[in-house]
Amino acid sequence: MMLGRLARWLRLYGHDTLYGVEDDDEIIRVALREGRIILTRDSGLAERAKKLGAEVFLLSSNSLEGQVKELMASGVEFSELFPASARCPKCNGPIKRVSKEEIREKVPEAVYWKYDEFYVCTKCGQIYWPGRQWREMVKMDRRLRD
Ligand SMILES: [Zn+2]
Repeated sequence: MMLGRLARWLRLYGHDTLYGVEDDDEIIRVALREGRIILTRDSGLAERAKKLGAEVFLLSSNSLEGQVKELMASGVEFSELFPASARCPKCNGPIKRVSKEEIREKVPEAVYWKYDEFYVCTKCGQIYWPGRQWREMVKMDRRLRD
């Protein structure tokens, strides 16, 4: 499948995204049970899932940018990248803003002094701040909208 980057990207836009279910039957079962749309590049899986009544989006691009564009073209919403409405790219958990004091002991000293904005995943505890990686994503976001 190899849509891990796309899954992380969707989560950053706040889309509730499952990733890492490996068995096709299980993917279809979960999609039907939870009313999820299956994103895949595997036309065999897409066909089987459709037959069983699941909603499927068959992606053709193998680049992240291409995949995001395909989704945008089909009407999937990519509202502005905004950390507070993002989901954790690692685990899909909701993210909330926290005060600097709350994370003081948990981030490198230099990061603590350099940034004023911190977020924590309420599920896995991962801490985020708008550093270099975030700026890269904002750049790509702008590129995709052009
Ligand atoms: Zn998390």
